[in-house]
Amino acid sequence: MTHIYNFSAGPAVLPKEVLAQAAAEMLDWHGSGMSVMEMSHRGPEFISIYQGAVRDLRELLAVPDNYKILFLQGGGLGENAIVPLNLVGRKPQPATVDFVHTGSWSGKSIKEAAKYANVNVAASSQADGYNRVPPQSDWTLTPGAAYLHICTNETIDGVEYAFAPELAGDTTIVADMSSHILSRVIDVSKYGVIFGGAQKNIGPAGLTLVIVREDLLGAALPICPSAFDWSVVAQHDSMYNTPPTYAIYIAGLVFQWLKRQGGVAAMEKRNIEKAALLYAALDADDFYHNRIAAENRSRMTIPFFLRDESKNEAFLAGAKQRGLLQLKGHKSVGGMRASIYNAMPIEGVQALVDYLNHFAGRGK
Ligand SMILES: *Cc1c(COP(=O)(O)O)cnc(C)c1O
Repeated sequence: MTHIYNFSAGPAVLPKEVLAQAAAEMLDWHGSGMSVMEMSHRGPEFISIYQGAVRDLRELLAVPDNYKILFLQGGGLGENAIVPLNLVGRKPQPATVDFVHTGSWSGKSIKEAAKYANVNVAASSQADGYNRVPPQSDWTLTPGAAYLHICTNETIDGVEYAFAPELAGDTTIVADMSSHILSRVIDVSKYGVIFGGAQKNIGPAGLTLVIVREDLLGAALPICPSAFDWSVVAQHDSMYNTPPTYAIYIAGLVFQWLKRQGGVAAMEKRNIEKAALLYAALDADDFYHNRIAAENRSRMTIPFFLRDESKNEAFLAGAKQRGLLQLKGHKSVGGMRASIYNAMPIEGVQALVDYLNHFAGRGK
């Protein structure tokens, strides 16, 4: 098999060990004679897979007991509607929702929420080309807002929060962590809701994770589809309707793999190392550039540009020859993007760095 490193933003690289285990268990899961894909979600085999995944995730993120872990469908974009449908009903209508606009994904969230609530953009880095997270001291929050929505890693723009907001009063913070959940230690208790699509840093597409504080349940708007009403989903242990069983199984294997790696703190250490290695190569001279403010540079999703954009095609072709795949930037920003999620080994980052140096003609 050709050896490659996959820098895709998502669906993205998965740990080889996990894929090998899934392959070995494909036709006969633990002597059941069945593939996980063929099992009833209500049977004892799948229930044990589901329970293990929830337990391991709770342990990895130290999720407090007063939070529910839900496995849904609909992706990150689905949550952009599902979040307001579940939360704006906690306040007199029409409620207001605050946003910090730091890039493409928070921008999409703002648009969608405006269908269900008044939207206040408390702070925005749009005028600066989304190159940073506006400091919390600059946020203009709405007293009595239903919640504040932030995207803690802007996957396309490469902007990551280096802090967890500390807000006065009981403001509920909703965080879209799709592209960096489980990459760094977080204090779940600082958030009311954490959500993320699985296909970036967890597992296959089709699974959406929601971690929600229990007191926020039960206020869904009457128009909220039952299958997306978090309290209904929680009451049914994520089995109100058929959950994405195979995606949950793979996510569960990834959680076990993370535990074997030493957990989230150990991953964070490696992610810091990996990101430092890559940014150092991008910063070595002005052949490449990344324009994000130093303290907000993402450790996971790293966009970069060649000064001479006429070399883009040659850069990508040369990368492909070395087995460095899916480095083309998002169409909205152009350039390149290297996603170096948990499952990207440091050897992959080193291979990319070697190529960056070679292509820039360094060390000759
Ligand atoms: C990918 C992504 C989404 C959208 O996820 P879908 O599963 O495609 O709906 C939302 N937010 C962030 C931060 C993302 O990276």
